Amino acid sequence: MYQIDKERCLGCGGCTITCPKGISIGPDNKAQIIDEEELIKAGGDNVCPYGAIVLEEEEEMEEEASY
Ligand code: SF4
Repeated sequence: MYQIDKERCLGCGGCTITCPKGISIGPDNKAQIIDEEELIKAGGDNVCPYGAIVLEEEEEMEEEASY
């Protein structure tokens, strides 16, 4: 499933213009996915020129907690 990398997201709103049904800008001024099907139709991770839309694997990925 797609997720927003909030670190990379600038809140520019470009994705909401490309994909108004799939993404909106949330209260934190970052993009949030509201409809993944629409996002996929609009191009998925290509919708964000800054690489803030990322495709995560379905299965849980073990995050390396290195702190
Ligand atoms: S996800 Fe990308 S296009 Fe959308 S607001 Fe964030 S930086 Fe802009």
